[in-house]
Amino acid sequence: MINRTDICIIGAGPAGLFTVFQAGMLGMKCHMVDALDFVGGQCNALYPEKPIYDIPAFPEIVAEDLIKNLEKQASPFSPVYHLGQQVVKVEKADSEFTITTSKNTTIQAKAIIIAAGCGAFGPNKPPIDGLSEYEVTGGVAYMVRTKNDYAGKKVVIAGGGDSAVDWANILASVAEKVYVIHRRDKFRAAPESVSQMKEWEKKGKLEFVIPFQLSGLEGQGGILKNVIVEDLDKNKRALEADNLLCFFGLAMELGPIADWGLNLNHNHISVEAHNMQTNIEGIYAVGDICNYKGKLKLISCGFAEVAMACHTAYEKVFGKPLHFEYSTSKGVPK
Ligand code: FAD
Repeated sequence: MINRTDICIIGAGPAGLFTVFQAGMLGMKCHMVDALDFVGGQCNALYPEKPIYDIPAFPEIVAEDLIKNLEKQASPFSPVYHLGQQVVKVEKADSEFTITTSKNTTIQAKAIIIAAGCGAFGPNKPPIDGLSEYEVTGGVAYMVRTKNDYAGKKVVIAGGGDSAVDWANILASVAEKVYVIHRRDKFRAAPESVSQMKEWEKKGKLEFVIPFQLSGLEGQGGILKNVIVEDLDKNKRALEADNLLCFFGLAMELGPIADWGLNLNHNHISVEAHNMQTNIEGIYAVGDICNYKGKLKLISCGFAEVAMACHTAYEKVFGKPLHFEYSTSKGVPK
């Protein structure tokens, strides 16, 4: 079956979700594809429970709430979501595009707005055997969806950056015990956060396992029993654990986007700063993936880029210039 629409949005992060609203306000229908099986991009995948402080008119908003609000704002325009599938191919024939996903979904669109963030992103994983058996059950994970999943558990956190330190502090408040494994005594994190970990250590809720690194896993049927760590002299230690959380950063790959004939600048898509147009007419890029002089990787900048891309795409979709109107004049569909 071929899905037909005005705009195909690639990426359902904050920029992609806001595109549904902006396009909808201009009368354009959207289909949206994301490789992840949930919407929200980095906000939901990497820091759902963290507060964001620089969204205009929200002095503080938790990342997952920002995403819920964006979904709500988009919902009157009935976007069609194709989640858990990556866009692998984009072809142009006449003035229309055919988009094909890894699940063989085909979408025909008059314009494409790429809001693909840092491309297909995934966690850097430690080089130890048997990870997949525990990934399925959540015994081994690379992000925290809800801190209460770890209430009363013994949790091993591996890594020395901001995410490892922040989550160690957050989970120490609910877990039975948190072990922090790191290769060296220095953390790449805010000094206050490191001091906070030391407070948890004094209370017996957190133990530093330094200088150690991951060496193996023990358990059965996806249920983790011990995390094995070793020091620089290969001395091993078994840490009794229900969960292992690894925070070794993200591997960011542009993935198939690199093969669509778009002009790239260091793995970002080059666009015209005034309308987000790429070198292929009818394809626009917004949010973290786009690049122009002065680009800032901030959600607020992404929102402005979305507005400019949609106003430009209107002419491509309807073949006539747009008569500009404020949302206060138009209202939104109920
Ligand atoms: P993303 O959120 O990266 O979403 C892109 C989506 O595209 C992803 O879901 C991905 O799966 C999908 N995708 C990629 N390639 C394909 C493909 N080929 N097919 C299908 N789907 C694809 N910004 C702020 O403004 N303020 C902050 O305080 C702030 N704090 C942050 C804290 C952390 C820990 C991190 C990691 C980031 C923070 N950011 C912050 C940055 C902010 O999250 C990003 O700027 C924002 O998420 C970019 O939105 P986006 O929609 O462009 O892309």
